[in-house]
Amino acid sequence: MHKYIIMGPQGSGKGTQAKLLKKAFDLTHFSVGDIFRWHVQSHTKLAARIKRLIDAGKLVPDDIVETIIRRRLDEHDWNYGFILDGFPRNVEQARFFLESYGIDAVIYVDVPEEVTLRRALARRICGNCGLDYNLFFHRPEVEDVCDVCGGTLLTRPDDNEAALKLRLNDFAEKTLPALDIFEHKGLVIRVDGTQDRNAVQAEIRAKLGR
Ligand code: AMP
Repeated sequence: MHKYIIMGPQGSGKGTQAKLLKKAFDLTHFSVGDIFRWHVQSHTKLAARIKRLIDAGKLVPDDIVETIIRRRLDEHDWNYGFILDGFPRNVEQARFFLESYGIDAVIYVDVPEEVTLRRALARRICGNCGLDYNLFFHRPEVEDVCDVCGGTLLTRPDDNEAALKLRLNDFAEKTLPALDIFEHKGLVIRVDGTQDRNAVQAEIRAKLGR
């Protein structure tokens, strides 16, 4: 069983890489952002507390994030291991995680700053089936229409320039220090996220020895 964390700035393609690893190794993929988006769409009690923060590109308070992570991992539906995507986002969350759980490796998808914003602004998601698109790499055949189900392609409300700049700033100021904690423990493998998705995946697997 393997337990991984994947980290990288917005637009690094870490979500795509996490999904490829999930498929290849039967891992359970935990995306904290996806869990939060599910709450917002389902109008849960939590949604009222987090929607405005997420739309503005601000981080959700640690106590909420830690409860979500603990609950999710306690379900133990990860026989072959898991890949954690979008967590930790700061030093406190990294410390919380290391106090309670073990990890085999942290995959860092490295992409230069000038590329991240452009890539993240090109993200689209099918409002019907949830398939991801990126106008750089995966354009739909018909503009704004999903190739698979014909649903309408949407932009995430927090993928606007103001919210993205805030998230990228938080990434540099809060998330990179969390990466340092794992780095000091010798857990980090770095991959070049500017390559095409298959090359990134191959580099990850080679560096994980899988
Ligand atoms: P993501 O899909 O990873 O870009 O996450 C979308 C949004 O969810 C972020 O901009 C935050 O508002 C919130 N979020 C996701 N993960 C975390 C986390 N670990 N800590 C705090 N907020 C988070």
